[in-house]
Amino acid sequence: MARIVVLGGAESGVGSAVLAKVKGFDVFLSDMGNIADKYVETLNKWEIPFEQGHHSEELILNADEIIKSPGIPCTAPLVKKAEEKGIHIISEIEFAGRYDTAKKICITGSNGKTTTTSLIYYLLQQAGLNVGLGGNIGKSYALQVATEKFDYYVLELSSFQLDNCYDFRPDIAIITNITPDHLDRYDHKMENYTQAKFRITRNLRPEDCFIFDSDDEITINHLDQIIIRAKKLPFTQSGKEVEQGAYLKDNKIVVKYEKEECDLFLEELALGGKHNVYNSMAAALAAKAAGIDNKVIRNSLETFQPIEHRLEPVLSVGGVLYINDSKATNVDSAWYALECQKKPVVWIVGGKDKGNDYSVLEGLVKEKVKAIVCMGLDNKKLHDSFEGIVGKENIVDAKSADEAVKASSKFAKDGDVVLLSPCCASFDLFANYEDRGQKFKEAVRNL
Ligand code: ADP
Repeated sequence: MARIVVLGGAESGVGSAVLAKVKGFDVFLSDMGNIADKYVETLNKWEIPFEQGHHSEELILNADEIIKSPGIPCTAPLVKKAEEKGIHIISEIEFAGRYDTAKKICITGSNGKTTTTSLIYYLLQQAGLNVGLGGNIGKSYALQVATEKFDYYVLELSSFQLDNCYDFRPDIAIITNITPDHLDRYDHKMENYTQAKFRITRNLRPEDCFIFDSDDEITINHLDQIIIRAKKLPFTQSGKEVEQGAYLKDNKIVVKYEKEECDLFLEELALGGKHNVYNSMAAALAAKAAGIDNKVIRNSLETFQPIEHRLEPVLSVGGVLYINDSKATNVDSAWYALECQKKPVVWIVGGKDKGNDYSVLEGLVKEKVKAIVCMGLDNKKLHDSFEGIVGKENIVDAKSADEAVKASSKFAKDGDVVLLSPCCASFDLFANYEDRGQKFKEAVRNL
């Protein structure tokens, strides 16, 4: 019996282990850290042997194949050793893809993955299709392949999940955009990160679709260097029209796929902001390529509910609207959050800086931001970047969500907006971006 060892005992690893068990492999799971109770329960239920708190090399390096969870870097010593021994290392997505005959719509990119994935999932559900949601979002894809039967999957894929994909093939692949992020895992080379994202396209066939942002220079430059056999469907807000794909005309998005056209009025889209126009274009194109009716597409994009922590309106207090965009963990996403604000903004920003270059935000800050609350342990870079723009008296520090919300409420007047769009990771003061968003919302409700 072939032996499969799974490294990492969370959603992705445990799902993979269950699928390997169902498919009759000799399975073993190993995690360097602690495995959460709910995953221990699942492993016990499926009678899968596992270890936690350490890696036993003798139980791992005898594997025929290793499934590596996306959180474990390729540079981890054990991964290196396994590679040296010639053991094939794959990701959950690669493994589950082998056993999945459903049509797969897969989304990657630097920003907008979760929004676009959720939009497409909603669209397919509204169309009455039997569809699963997975990847970097919700339940493990492998677990679903093991235990459920869907005709379609909508999968959000991070570059880490794509790193160990080889034969995995989407029917419709989407790259939302490519901007610098997570470069620490790619030798600080943009080219490596770009290539990781483009792995989503490597097995596409002529009958498949590739949907991409043709306003994104990094994407376009890379496309010039490779051959993609799939139907190419660009989306753009540049004002240019495309033969196949999506573009803006007057106050509408025009979507063209094969001989069909679907028009969507911008003012009727449920999600506001220029970035969500891109996300809606990508979702509408995927839906058209999946054969969904124009009426369903229009109706779904009008009724979709905003997702938590992504430009999520929280509450109006004294005429001031508080918006939670805690998921904006890089400069580009905060740029879009500021760009779509129509009222004066008190901006809560900061956290763990990932080597950010704030200069691209200067114009928007000058135009829209009246005061800044820096919420992080080290705020020096923010002061250096923005003090000259908003004035020394309008930029203050806070060490918790509570302090930040209180400080913001002092700056904000009736008709203003308080926007949490931090540009940074959350790990200096919070467990993760969800925790940061929750604490922000609590603080707003306590005002
Ligand atoms: P991801 O899953 O890729 O992190 P999300 O859909 O969760 O992306 O959105 C994260 C943040 O990025 C949002 O809070 C929003 O401010 C911003 N954003 C969303 N879509 C886009 C886009 N297409 N381009 C740039 N920024 C975006």
